[in-house]
Amino acid sequence: MSSQISSSSPCRVLVVEDEPSIAENIDYCLRTEGFEVSIVGTGEEAIKTLALVAPGFVILDVGLPGISGFDVCREIRRHSSVPVLFLTAREDEIDRVVGLELGADDYVVKPFSPRELAARVRAILRRSAATSAPQETAKSASAGSLLAIDPETRRASWNGQSLTLARYEFGLAQVFAAHPGRVYTRDQLMDLVWDEPDASLDRTVDAHIKSLRSKLREAGAPEDLIVTHRGVGYSLKDDR
Ligand code: CA
Repeated sequence: MSSQISSSSPCRVLVVEDEPSIAENIDYCLRTEGFEVSIVGTGEEAIKTLALVAPGFVILDVGLPGISGFDVCREIRRHSSVPVLFLTAREDEIDRVVGLELGADDYVVKPFSPRELAARVRAILRRSAATSAPQETAKSASAGSLLAIDPETRRASWNGQSLTLARYEFGLAQVFAAHPGRVYTRDQLMDLVWDEPDASLDRTVDAHIKSLRSKLREAGAPEDLIVTHRGVGYSLKDDR
């Protein structure tokens, strides 16, 4: 079992939309079609959520309060090839979606029918499954990919052995499992996992990494499943 979306589990769609009525419509329609949905209203939340839930698809409104959908897309593309579909409201936004090399997979112009949107999501997922399937198969062989996290039930396991993790250990495991191989600095882990990062110290992260490692070892995971990058931070082993 991998923390990535396997072919049998429903695909999680991250919806980044600041207009609640539109977000609700999309949410309802995608759930009806069997998708799992996470909704956020700002780009900042989107970037944070992306690291936590590892969505299989992102629907991204261009016009957001704070950082724009374009900037969110650029940030996503620094780490991930997850399919991105833009929601645009204006002609000039369409020009930018099409004209700039943002790495978006498609766009839909407001107002749109949620069913049409869901159909577009399915079509893009079919396309990307066809091109990325061999890579996903290889990924399942990595030790890091055996770390499975379910954010809904807050259950964690390694290679089928369930782990009893305390709150911050679970948070750390969740961040690592979403992006095996990606190196996180202590500051990034603080921001992603702790509620009040300023009140905590770097060694707080180290202490929780230590306890998470010992629980993983008890479940039979290799010693170096969480890799220390001296002077930088930590990552989940990605030995593909
Ligand atoms: Ca908007």
